[in-house]
Amino acid sequence: MAEFIPLSVPVIAGNEWTYVRECLDTGWVSSAGKFVTRFEDELAACTGASHAVACTSGTAALHVALQLAGVRSCDLVLAPTVTFIAPINAIRYLGADPLFFDCDRFYNLDPGPVRDYLANETQPQADGLHDRRSGRRLGALLPVAVFGNAGDWADLYADCRARGLPVVEDATEALGTRYTTGAWAGRHAGTRADLGCFSFNGNKIITTGGGGMMVTDRGDLAARARYLTQQAKDDAVAFRHDEVGYNYRLTNLAAALGVGQLEQLEAFVARKHANLALYRERLAGCDWCELAPSPAYARNNLWMYPLYLKDGTWRGRARDLVDALAAEGIETRPLWQLNHQQAPYRACRVIGAARAQDLVANTVNLPCSVDLTPAAIDRVCEVLHRV
Ligand SMILES: *Cc1c(COP(=O)(O)O)cnc(C)c1O
Repeated sequence: MAEFIPLSVPVIAGNEWTYVRECLDTGWVSSAGKFVTRFEDELAACTGASHAVACTSGTAALHVALQLAGVRSCDLVLAPTVTFIAPINAIRYLGADPLFFDCDRFYNLDPGPVRDYLANETQPQADGLHDRRSGRRLGALLPVAVFGNAGDWADLYADCRARGLPVVEDATEALGTRYTTGAWAGRHAGTRADLGCFSFNGNKIITTGGGGMMVTDRGDLAARARYLTQQAKDDAVAFRHDEVGYNYRLTNLAAALGVGQLEQLEAFVARKHANLALYRERLAGCDWCELAPSPAYARNNLWMYPLYLKDGTWRGRARDLVDALAAEGIETRPLWQLNHQQAPYRACRVIGAARAQDLVANTVNLPCSVDLTPAAIDRVCEVLHRV
């Protein structure tokens, strides 16, 4: 039996052991300790954000970021239907509801329909922008940089700013993604929003086991984030708390792993690019599928390798292809089930999902671990040619 090829596994190859051992040797394993602030400082430097606040997960970062953006109970939050469900759940944690939009060809929130909606279906009131049809307040825009693809959102964010609508970007999959041309040239994904969020879950481009980070250029928001993620302590000795806080601070142990991983980010991104180039070469003669494009206006981190089923027997059958590849010991995944069809969100409004429907039926994510070998890529491609 040929060796199992997983979808995405972490690579622990740098100073992680040294840093984690230091935590264990010194007893600094919990949420205080130098690696937490070091990880924050280094992530801020890496992304060019003024402030970074470490959290227990990307979902926790999104939850607090949406709260800091001012999202409150009964608000609507503009969000894509194509995304892992975590950011949509974070909207609901605050008692708000998503208003769903379609995606563009890079799986990212399509800016056109959102801009049309803002122009034609909203009206400003004393407490912010409102949806004309329902009368409900709009709490924020929440775009997601899917698979690490940089979003085409400069004009959309400008619209939001002009209308006073806060923007929280879910850049959880996009660490290492930078714009190279256009209004945002030189800027890192997630840093053009009021608040941006990253994740270091086990399958992301770098991992802390579990963890997340919020970035912002606003010192007041960063200070509030630190306060809320550490139980809202107003007097730590006397245990006085003036607000409801969260236990969302990353541990030193996890941050130590993160510091070791972050040192290798550029090397990881380079491997992601080299491995995708190999896939492209090996799949060149395959006429029923193609590797999905990534936006040319950015150096994308290429976190996932989405394969689009454009023709032939597998057309519309992403799930069947996933099962067929699994039988050959190759782990792949379809796109997430669309969020407007998930049980908790079926009653929420969706403004178009035609492209999303097509992509969900015709996308399979190929194995993309950083340490994927040329032999493994050969085998995946050989099986794709054969099936
Ligand atoms: C991974 C992920 C998250 C959640 O991050 P966790 O650290 O697992 O909580 C949120 N949004 C998207 C798009 C993700 O891929």
